[in-house]
Amino acid sequence: MGSLKLFDSMSGGLRKFVPLQSGRAGIYTCGPSVYDYSHIGNFRTYVAEDILVRYLAYKGLKVRRVMNITDVEDKAVRAAVAQGVGLADLQKQKIRGFFSDWDVLGLSRPDVIAYASGHVPQMVKMIERICARGFCVSNRSGVYFNIRKMRGYGKMSGLKDPEYFGRAPGDDYSKCGLWDFRLWKRWSRGDGNIGWDSPFGFGRPGWHIECTAMATRYLGEYFDLHCGGSDNVYPHHENEIAQSFAANRTRLAKYWFHTAHLVINSRKMSKRTGNVVYVRDILEKGYSGEELRAFLMCGNHRMTLNFTYRDLKTCALRLREMRSNAAGLCGGRPENGPLAKRLLSGFNSRMDNGLNVKSAMNWLDSQIRQLAARQMRGALGRGGAAQAHYALKKIDSVVNVLF
Ligand SMILES: [Zn+2]
Repeated sequence: MGSLKLFDSMSGGLRKFVPLQSGRAGIYTCGPSVYDYSHIGNFRTYVAEDILVRYLAYKGLKVRRVMNITDVEDKAVRAAVAQGVGLADLQKQKIRGFFSDWDVLGLSRPDVIAYASGHVPQMVKMIERICARGFCVSNRSGVYFNIRKMRGYGKMSGLKDPEYFGRAPGDDYSKCGLWDFRLWKRWSRGDGNIGWDSPFGFGRPGWHIECTAMATRYLGEYFDLHCGGSDNVYPHHENEIAQSFAANRTRLAKYWFHTAHLVINSRKMSKRTGNVVYVRDILEKGYSGEELRAFLMCGNHRMTLNFTYRDLKTCALRLREMRSNAAGLCGGRPENGPLAKRLLSGFNSRMDNGLNVKSAMNWLDSQIRQLAARQMRGALGRGGAAQAHYALKKIDSVVNVLF
């Protein structure tokens, strides 16, 4: 596995990545809520995770990645009832749009794409286990997780003071405990005919249990990496850890990988201010999927990234030059050798350091430029070009923007 270090949100620092099972990595990604279209800020997270998955595979690991689709949630249910359509019909087009953007950005498809609506029995089973172990409180509106029973709740987000953190807006809580979040919502009149039978009554799961139940279903009770956007840390991932601990006595994942927000012209993207940018907006302006991908990955994934069209243009122009130089180098047959090894080890050392794609891409840019200049002078030779070809193809299996 070499010396890959990843930033782990649970320990708050870089940690050497040692998979639970040698040669394998199990990864869970919090996928989209498909009530609405995903914007480029959402896709920044998926691009960072794609680099992670591809880099682990490049390092020789057999990766199994699971991503959920949140197709059961309050907003979607309300909209489906209001429009008199089923949940599936309501969200079909959004799901299609999501995967079309996914492909445009050159993201590799997860091994398992798990729809919440197809896994309600697993969720019910997990809630039953949580309740059997005494972690539930229940009232007329539903079943809730009793946070007072969970020692160490909030460790990852440094959650200590309930007054300070309070409840997350838009989340579902019980009326008794401040943080007691919903596991099961009992049917009420506004839910139309949408719901599932369960020992807790007809209704639907809360959205935190959806991920924990599906992750465990496909990756086991404890797996290597859990990924998501930084806004998932609290409350979603804290609640996932609580659920997993209550049901299975595990903290769900060994490493927690989070990607920071994308802002637009230094402002938070929001529908209200009308500054939300979608992948199709970028394509309509004449940029390619690779160019947007290059922009989204060229910042430290732990730091907020500021999107401006000016920066996108600079990034795109640089990528166009890199691609044209790389194509010039890679005409013949690829061949391993000392130059290829030097290029690969330069790339690896930057990526091993917390997946520093920004530094790896800057370094790669200068290397490709120098190699192209040597080739122009006739100083590279066919052997040199063949080795550059070998290394660049391998590197592109991770960055996926060069060819
Ligand atoms: Zn999730």
